[in-house]
Amino acid sequence: MTKSPRFTSRIVETDNLPRHPGQIQPAWHLGADRNGYDIVARVIDKNHLLIRCRTCGGAHVSRYFVVAKAKPMCPHCLDTAWRQEADAAGVQFLRRDETDRKYGFYLAPCGHEQRLQRGRVQTMGAEGESYRCDICQASLEEAEAARRGWSVAGPDPEGNPSYRLYRHAQGCGCEVRIARANMQSGRFTCPGCGEGWATAPSFLYVMRFRLNDDRRVVKLGFSRDPDSRLHHQLLSGSPATGEILRHLPMPTGRAAQSAEKRLHSRIAQQAPTARVPAEVYAAQIHVASEIYTAETEPLILRLLDALAADLAA
Ligand SMILES: [Zn+2]
Ligand SMILES: [Zn+2]
Ligand SMILES: [Zn+2]
Repeated sequence: MTKSPRFTSRIVETDNLPRHPGQIQPAWHLGADRNGYDIVARVIDKNHLLIRCRTCGGAHVSRYFVVAKAKPMCPHCLDTAWRQEADAAGVQFLRRDETDRKYGFYLAPCGHEQRLQRGRVQTMGAEGESYRCDICQASLEEAEAARRGWSVAGPDPEGNPSYRLYRHAQGCGCEVRIARANMQSGRFTCPGCGEGWATAPSFLYVMRFRLNDDRRVVKLGFSRDPDSRLHHQLLSGSPATGEILRHLPMPTGRAAQSAEKRLHSRIAQQAPTARVPAEVYAAQIHVASEIYTAETEPLILRLLDALAADLAA
């Protein structure tokens, strides 16, 4: 008896298959017809048929009992399904994973090849969600950490999705779990060496933003790195534009924070309606408060100049 090839259902190169002499049974024709196929020939050995899909016109090899008694799956139609599911999720289907039928290899828009579970791709497409590349996400988080002299050592050992395990790479080398948002803002202190926002030099800043409806707003805040704060955090991926109007060096983050608090309360006293409701800018500037109307800009600049004069005195 001839040994059957292992993946007969996936044989799609059909032109050069050896033909097998012998009749095609009427029951096989009936079975093929019921499932939307035509039988082209007997091939390979007594067990196999070459059948053609009426949906796509593609041929493949199937065992005769699958044709007669079950439902052959057209590999060409299946391939089309994988491609369409991938398109809907914003990725390009490359090939199936031959070691696990639930997985395939896909090309993300960024150019990274990824092994993904088919079910995950189907869900993303069905829910209108686009694939976010794990590799790009990892390098984004690595860059965030590197800006502060840290590196990403791994996921949070306590399993909180907002936290990561970070290493103080350009400092004491200790590994500690820190909220990713704190790594982004730099507002944390290393428990290993005590270096952090509170003791490091900082800046008060005033920024002007133009929202996508042309509305202008102003922000007062403090940061170790106002330029990075503006471009990599506040405006990351936003349609709004912004510029730094002033930045005032402060000896430490703690000094900057208390000066900033005093300035906010002075603004609240002198211009009680100056605060812009968060819903106006929430989708465009990644911050929850501290945003003022354009009319408040001269007042904020005056207050900052007065503080600068005090510090210089
Ligand atoms: Zn087909
Ligand atoms: Zn990527
Ligand atoms: Zn440290």
